[in-house]
Amino acid sequence: MIKQFIPNEYIPSVFDLNLEELNDRQIKGIITDLDNTLVEWDRPEATPELLDWMYFVKRQGFQVTIVSNNNKERVSSFSEPTGIQFIHSAKKPMGHAFRKACKRMGLKKNEVVVIGDQVLTDVFGGNRAGFYTVLVVPVGQGDGFFTKINRKVERRVLHRLKDKGLIQWEE
Ligand SMILES: [Mg+2]
Repeated sequence: MIKQFIPNEYIPSVFDLNLEELNDRQIKGIITDLDNTLVEWDRPEATPELLDWMYFVKRQGFQVTIVSNNNKERVSSFSEPTGIQFIHSAKKPMGHAFRKACKRMGLKKNEVVVIGDQVLTDVFGGNRAGFYTVLVVPVGQGDGFFTKINRKVERRVLHRLKDKGLIQWEE
């Protein structure tokens, strides 16, 4: 059970994703969280750097879907200008939205990675649904109300994993 909270990979940001390695592992799709993963939760639009990255990722042949627990207004107004497909109100860690995203991309779950900044929603949900999971350091400092609560629980989980020697990284 506790292993479900451990990501397969832990990287500083989405920009550090090793696309070549993903390609070598036959990964063809990326499911990414939005808030604090792609941009700060309160930034309405993608940064120029992120737009470049998304363009590059697509050029490398990857499909991308944004899967966010946030509402339709937030997720669509962010995603539509980027041309990236999205699922809002995803109810992560439930697996339904991940499976839906896979289906839309026409990919199997072993061809898709799940990326996000939260252990309790992105990593736990992704692992439980059978995906390769990647945890990133949250973009920005601020958080919404529910995320703040989640992070408190998350820190506790991470500390327990560390105590058990199941993870090595520093916070
Ligand atoms: Mg997030």
